Amino acid sequence: MLHIGAHLSSSKGFTGIASDALKIKADTFQFFTRNPQGFKAKDIDPSDVQSFLKISREHHFQKFVAHAPYTLNPCSDKIETREFAEMVFQDDLKRMEYVPENYYNFHPGSHVGQGIEVGIEMIAVLLNKILSSHQSTIVLLETMSGKGSEVGSMFEELRLIIDRIELKDKIGVCLDTCHVYSAGYDIVNNLEGVLEEFDHIIGLNRLKAVHLNDSKMPFASHKDRHEQIGKGTIGAEAIVRFINHEKLKHLPFVLETPNDLDGWAKEIAFLRQNFNE
Ligand code: FE
Ligand code: FE
Ligand code: ZN
Repeated sequence: MLHIGAHLSSSKGFTGIASDALKIKADTFQFFTRNPQGFKAKDIDPSDVQSFLKISREHHFQKFVAHAPYTLNPCSDKIETREFAEMVFQDDLKRMEYVPENYYNFHPGSHVGQGIEVGIEMIAVLLNKILSSHQSTIVLLETMSGKGSEVGSMFEELRLIIDRIELKDKIGVCLDTCHVYSAGYDIVNNLEGVLEEFDHIIGLNRLKAVHLNDSKMPFASHKDRHEQIGKGTIGAEAIVRFINHEKLKHLPFVLETPNDLDGWAKEIAFLRQNFNE
């Protein structure tokens, strides 16, 4: 069975997310832990969590992905921004334990001109501070398109971060199809080669989730603009090949395509129809 969902609004709490997931026939999903451009997180409502967990069991939801806000930058050149990143990360991981055994995904960061090595080091320092052997959450580094001074657009950079992590079993990778294609990994014409490279450098055992997006931008453009499935430069054929790949088909796939619930329902139906059990 294909495990697929979309990036849903968390404005109506966990039960709101679950009901949206059911509407679009998803069995996994993603949401922002707080305002993506800001700071504020809503208080966790235990009764909301309880009814979510019940729906989750009844409908066999898979692990979900909670997405950190974009403002979280562990490798900023400003100490206040790095402290803010630590505080948000710490708080989000604490909140994640209300819904244990899921994924927390974040953009590794932007080194803002300090250089990729400094960026990698600062990201690892933060992770080593906040990861704990008691947490049930696996933290995912997202593969990035490489716009601006983003860290994580090359598999080697993610490997260098992971190499520095003490609690390696708490860390994984989320591959974004739009981002890797923009970063110069040709998943359209050479999926096999890209996966071999990923396996060789990072290890496919570290790949825990996929952001399934088409791209508005050409190959290797280092631009980050998502497109609906089949309407972009990656195309439906390559995306169908991707979800059916032997080494990928078991993963949770999350759509971050520009869509409303109806649009996602259509994409999910299309992908389910084109999935070989
Ligand atoms: Fe992201
Ligand atoms: Fe993404
Ligand atoms: Zn993106």
